[in-house]
Amino acid sequence: TVPGVGIIGLGNMGGALAANLVDAGLAVVAHDALGPERAPEGSTYVASVAEVARRAGVVVFSLPDGKASEQVARELLAAEGRCARHVVDTSTVGVTAARTIGALLGEGGVGYVDAPVSGGPAGARARTLAVMYAGSRDACAEVEPVLAGLSDRRFRVGERPGMAQALKLANNFLSATALAATSEAVAFGRSVGLDLETMLTVLDSASGRNTATSDKFPNHVLTGRYASGFSNSLMTKDVQLYLNAVGEQGGPSWIGAVTAGVWERFADAEPGADFTRIYPFVEGS
Ligand code: NAD
Repeated sequence: TVPGVGIIGLGNMGGALAANLVDAGLAVVAHDALGPERAPEGSTYVASVAEVARRAGVVVFSLPDGKASEQVARELLAAEGRCARHVVDTSTVGVTAARTIGALLGEGGVGYVDAPVSGGPAGARARTLAVMYAGSRDACAEVEPVLAGLSDRRFRVGERPGMAQALKLANNFLSATALAATSEAVAFGRSVGLDLETMLTVLDSASGRNTATSDKFPNHVLTGRYASGFSNSLMTKDVQLYLNAVGEQGGPSWIGAVTAGVWERFADAEPGADFTRIYPFVEGS
């Protein structure tokens, strides 16, 4: 039932996801507003969203935010001779945007599976990316071969679009807070003369252990390779979306507000920097 798989957005994450779909043996039609440069070998680049919509039954989005996803969803719906029947949105768009885009596509007869991802471009290529998804049973069944092409780790977490976004925002809030807090704690230790590597070895073996001590610091800070493929502007967007969503639910977001402030400060000072550079930023502040 899937004549071809489309992918729109070939950035850090979309480029890796597109390559996975090709490797899975699917016929991949790819598009990005910036042109064909990052379309993987084995895919067919086309010059518009409309062309993707004409050639693919399922279309994967990997776009910066909800605004971009909504715009592309509208272009897809407007395509003459459209064959696209389902959208799998792997972008982090937030809860409200996922509901809006799901309703918009639904009115046009296109199913929407809200499917944000966690694990970065390297995790994507290793097929260890966590794909959390929400959508109707029928829509999820239709897009299963595409989800399977994206990653080996997939979790259906709900029936309604927006539910997977809520989980993704909770995840990124935790990841953002852990990295910001660890940066502050490590900078403090260094200021009293502790050795960076020694501190990390101990922290990662003690009760302060978290994804910053187990992954971000050893793989990016200690190596000096600040190239995780995830920008501080996208992380700032995610924490802000988390804060908005918690606010809409009427819940407390004491820590969320502090974390959002730290990331905003960093993104304002170094717009577009890799998010792991928050450590040198905090240490130098
Ligand atoms: P990116 O900025 O590297 O790539 C986004 C791509 O979308 C760009 O190539 C851009 O040209 C394209 N684009 C934007 N608007 C478009 C439009 N209207 N039509 C066609 N193409 C358009 O971002 P990324 O890091 O690849 O992230 C993509 C999404 O995945 C974001 O929502 C992000 O929050 C999420 N995400 C990223 C990571 C990561 O580690 N990079 C991890 C998990 C989730």
